[in-house]
Amino acid sequence: MKAAVVRKFGDNLDVSEFERPVPGPNQLLVKLVTSGVCHTDLHAAQGDWPVRPEPPFIPGHEGVGVVEEIGENVDDFQIGDMVGNAWLWSACGKCEYCRKGWETVCDSVTNGGYTANGSFSEYMLVDARYAPRIPEGVDPVEAAPILCAGVTVYKAIKETEAKPGDWVVISGIGGLGHIAVQYAVAMGMRVVAVDVAEDKLELAKKHGAEAVVNAAVDEPGEKVKEITGGGAHGIVVTAVHPKAFGQAIAMCRKLGTIVFVGLPPGATDVEIFWVVLNRLTIRGSIVGTRQDMVEALDFFARGKIKPTVATRKLDEINDIFDEMKKGAIDGRLVIDYR
Ligand code: NAD
Ligand code: ZN
Ligand code: ZN
Repeated sequence: MKAAVVRKFGDNLDVSEFERPVPGPNQLLVKLVTSGVCHTDLHAAQGDWPVRPEPPFIPGHEGVGVVEEIGENVDDFQIGDMVGNAWLWSACGKCEYCRKGWETVCDSVTNGGYTANGSFSEYMLVDARYAPRIPEGVDPVEAAPILCAGVTVYKAIKETEAKPGDWVVISGIGGLGHIAVQYAVAMGMRVVAVDVAEDKLELAKKHGAEAVVNAAVDEPGEKVKEITGGGAHGIVVTAVHPKAFGQAIAMCRKLGTIVFVGLPPGATDVEIFWVVLNRLTIRGSIVGTRQDMVEALDFFARGKIKPTVATRKLDEINDIFDEMKKGAIDGRLVIDYR
């Protein structure tokens, strides 16, 4: 099968022949139809993070495809079913975190396109116990970004604990952020979008942001406080620049919650004084559980979320990464295998 393979961190992906996997117990062999390209795939290929996978590996964790072979012990999928992969590829189901319903931080989690080969490939394996079922009748190009970007921002917005009618800031209007704007609107919140590029802010307005702030032009904390009358109740930072994380403190209303989602390597400045005096909460959020995925896909299937997408071919993966580095992508690029 043809696949885009990371052979060495920082090198171009090698689009070449790779051995087609055989499904083991609890696994499905899936023939890919589409796959979104997440900025996480670029971090993975560059080896950006403290925990790194072992090359060679195949990135991609927004894959949508058709079940072609079924391994042992699987009784709830049939050949021809539409299924996806996800960052939460599999978990142990037994550790303290799995028992508490926090399988996303499982002690022995397997991540799609990282520690399990992913969807930049004509075929992939998924764990039938964890793989998201794709709702009937949806467009596989638009469905792909829901499998990481969608579920991640849906969960992160819940983690802000903002209520309908509250203000939410979405910082970073890329693949994740432009979908976050839509979930926040669908969940009844008022959205301020923050980015450093005007075209991204235009996209946010198109998807329902009430106000926008260009952090390269204005001081974002002051501007958000002015718009929201004292700061946003919830803030979701998806930006790929560390500076955006520190800036979120000044945008936050007293008692508010800031959720860190973006994963640029490095550190940021957090002014301790305002976190303490304003009783702020800062928390991280990593993708979503299987239940979050069901809910996120349900919003999508009911037409509340419509990702901005364009399609490319697998051979173009290195060009896609170049565009991503430049911040030149509108919404999400999706590989179409058809
Ligand atoms: P993307 O490249 O599509 O978008 C990034 C956006 O950040 C762009 O719109 C860019 O203009 C904007 N940006 C850059 N600097 C900024 C700044 N200073 N202030 C505001 N905006 C700024 O990336 P993506 O696919 O949306 O992923 C975003 C990040 O989220 C990546 O680091 C990715 O690894 C991470 N991620 C995390 C999770 C999770 O579960 N926590 C899941 C998926 C992706
Ligand atoms: Zn992702
Ligand atoms: Zn576990």
